[in-house]
Amino acid sequence: MFDSLPLPPHQWPSMQPGWVWLCGAGPGDPGLLTIHALNALRQADVIVYDALVQECILDWAPQAEKVYAGKRGGKPSALQRDISLSLVELARAGKRVLRLKGGDPFVFGRGGEEAQTLVQHRVPVRIIPGITAGIGGLAYAGIPATHRGVNQSVTFVTGHDQSGNVSSPNWKALAEGSQLLVIYMGMKHAAQISAALIENGRSADEPCAVVCNATMPRQQVIETTLGTMAADIEASGLEPPALLCIGRNVLMRQVLDWQGQMGGEAVRDMDPLNMDAVAAVA
Ligand code: SAH
Repeated sequence: MFDSLPLPPHQWPSMQPGWVWLCGAGPGDPGLLTIHALNALRQADVIVYDALVQECILDWAPQAEKVYAGKRGGKPSALQRDISLSLVELARAGKRVLRLKGGDPFVFGRGGEEAQTLVQHRVPVRIIPGITAGIGGLAYAGIPATHRGVNQSVTFVTGHDQSGNVSSPNWKALAEGSQLLVIYMGMKHAAQISAALIENGRSADEPCAVVCNATMPRQQVIETTLGTMAADIEASGLEPPALLCIGRNVLMRQVLDWQGQMGGEAVRDMDPLNMDAVAAVA
């Protein structure tokens, strides 16, 4: 369908040989690509893509050579350097290079590192943001990232560090100050993360959701609590990619699980946070 459609009238940038466009592909659903991404897909000579990019998105660029650059454990930092340098080489060979990454390239995507290497090698770059999983994925699960009266801030956290161990942000500060925590790459370390948050004062009863394969047809959501999250993940057998979402916003899913409702499920509670009562008193 898109092959025959023109882009909407606008001064769309044209990709020049020797350039690298570093572009987010969104969390999975191809409909969440930006028009700049689509414009890039149509012009690229070569697409260097990550594991989280859906294959069907690549089908929209039949003219382009496709190079898979997903990480498969081992030595991520060495491999990352190879990827960045291969982008430099492709650009120097005069290709129009599209570097396509899941979500947003600058959110836990190492986009900054790649762009920096390109600039250091005098390769011109354009950055195209994408919808990050922590926002788009939550929306597909029916969880608003902010909800008036519930949270005035939302914090994105990575659950693991460069070597694959549990990450070491200031869990105490996060537990005390972050009203909604959205944790990327946290599934494997869910037990340690919830223990760290509970140890620092969060309630074991706090609502949590694990949003797996968000925005894709195989999306699955576990509704749980901080105290039972790790055991529920284990029992579910679900695998990454997944987001851990910790905070009362999760309760909004009881009214806003729009995907479930499309499948015929009933609304469980029209006002799960009891905001009507709060508004009536105020
Ligand atoms: N740059 C990406 C994040 C890359 S880090 C972005 O902005 O979304 C990879 C992590 O992102 C995964 O381990 C997972 O925690 C999260 N993630 C990415 N896509 C996801 C999806 N479709 N569903 C759930 N989590 C996802």
